[in-house]
Amino acid sequence: MSTKDYLKIKKLIEDADAILIGAGAGLSSSAGIDYSQESFKRYFPELGAAYHMTDMYTSSFYNFKSEEERWSYWAKHVNYSFIAPPALLTYKNLYKLVENKNYFVITTNVDGQFLKSGFAANRVFEVQGSYGKMQCSVGCHNKVYDDTSLIKKMLLCKDNLKVDSNLVPKCPVCGKNMEINIRKDAFFVEDKNWQELNSNYIKFIDANINKKLVLLELGVGFNTPGIIRFPFEELVYEHRNIFLIRINDKFPDVAFEIKDQTITVKEDCSEAIAQILNS
Ligand SMILES: [Zn+2]
Repeated sequence: MSTKDYLKIKKLIEDADAILIGAGAGLSSSAGIDYSQESFKRYFPELGAAYHMTDMYTSSFYNFKSEEERWSYWAKHVNYSFIAPPALLTYKNLYKLVENKNYFVITTNVDGQFLKSGFAANRVFEVQGSYGKMQCSVGCHNKVYDDTSLIKKMLLCKDNLKVDSNLVPKCPVCGKNMEINIRKDAFFVEDKNWQELNSNYIKFIDANINKKLVLLELGVGFNTPGIIRFPFEELVYEHRNIFLIRINDKFPDVAFEIKDQTITVKEDCSEAIAQILNS
């Protein structure tokens, strides 16, 4: 991308009536939430030794023998990805780009970075949940609970592979185990707040569908393309007034039919956002 191209993107954003941001895993990994095997080895050698885990993603599917061990693992996972990181520069730069615009965010990321970086809570739809909340493991009731203070207590337990039994949370309604509120099975709880944000998302699109609407898609790959990537392409295909900016260093391509309404940036998200901001 040349300086001129970045300037063109900045102008598109400035001139837009509304900006819809769609963000996937590529944005957070570029921002510095590092799920690599090297980091895992460095920060969690005890998990590698005890369970032969190699990285933060595959480890989350491990079948633990006890709830004490399972929560000890999740406390570390949630702390690493959600509690410990401050608002990261990439997200803060992104906020600066749109803070004075009419914006809305849909994201599959569960690390809470949008909310930490200043984006308004009623304009950020975390469609796959959040590390900061927990729910009944079988979704027996439609409510989620903050988990941060509990997890901080878990991190202080003396045994590095087991939390104290009295810290293991149980569902206040049915007594079954609790889970982090991230979508991984059919029991994911979509609570009142989730429903409201889903409705805000639909309303935002409806209100701006005939205006100068710019879709800013960041680091969205093919894990769950049906949530952001395909609907964004469809919106652009069906409405000539809608424009797509796709920033993706791995999967930048778009269909021929929407090429005229798209700018693709085959570049790392952090770098591209900084370039646009400084254009
Ligand atoms: Zn329950």
